[in-house]
Amino acid sequence: MIDNIENVLINGNLRYQWKILQGLENIEVNDKIPKYPVLILTCMDPRIDVHRVFQLNPGDVFILRNAGNLITSDALRSILLAVYQYNIKHIIILGHLDCGMTKIKMLELRKKIPYEFFTPRSKESLDIFSQIKNFFKPFTDELKNIKQQLANIKRLRVHKEDLTITGMLYDVDTGWVFEYEKFQEFDNIENFREQFSIILNEKKFQSVEFIKSIENEIVSNKESVEDQYILPQQESHDDEKIIFVGNLEEDKTFNAKINHETISNRLFTTQMILPKISFPQIHFSRVKIYMPKISRNNK
Ligand SMILES: [Zn+2]
Repeated sequence: MIDNIENVLINGNLRYQWKILQGLENIEVNDKIPKYPVLILTCMDPRIDVHRVFQLNPGDVFILRNAGNLITSDALRSILLAVYQYNIKHIIILGHLDCGMTKIKMLELRKKIPYEFFTPRSKESLDIFSQIKNFFKPFTDELKNIKQQLANIKRLRVHKEDLTITGMLYDVDTGWVFEYEKFQEFDNIENFREQFSIILNEKKFQSVEFIKSIENEIVSNKESVEDQYILPQQESHDDEKIIFVGNLEEDKTFNAKINHETISNRLFTTQMILPKISFPQIHFSRVKIYMPKISRNNK
């Protein structure tokens, strides 16, 4: 077990700052907050890392979390602010498989949690079981729950016609996200599970199509930017090898001559031998690129 959680977190932050210094992490500053007009309401389940799952950066979208991705009155408070104060145009209810809210043992909870915390005065007429249920709002079916939350928020569209509201389902075991169309037709989570292998195959097909489109993008990028690139002929006796990819315009100190034959052969993934130095990160067209920060061996 972790003895001192604060140390773990602060050390994590020190590591983060060290990575910023090294250029391995960067804090993106956008004028527009958030970058995309999107709010994602998801569960507090720690296995869901929204940024990682959708490959987003801090500042990209609003993320709202609670147990079970529920449209509670507090969730609605934040949603209304996001929509009317920050002009959010898309709301996504991101539910997930294996949700803890389907496993709540209400009678056990009743014994553990002081009664005063889940007894709203207005509900005093209800029995204790109903009170707890009312308070924690457990559910038995993750898929039905997404549909229910969509129904709960639907009325917002009456006032905001340009708002889109949709659901998604995340599989914590595989990392796949299923769009609403993929599970819309199923009445419950069991039906979805029965068809899971077929749905997963569809996603894998979608994945192949995506990879093809990425490849096409890289080819067209390569044709359009070829003249911007210069790849050096370097030699070193050091054993350390790295993959070098880069736009030399980014680094004015990089002193090399244009060699078109080299460019066409080694434009995007050139294996070079360089001395052991730190490699800060720069960004280029959705590819993470590492370039040496300090001086290279120029001929
Ligand atoms: Zn959950």
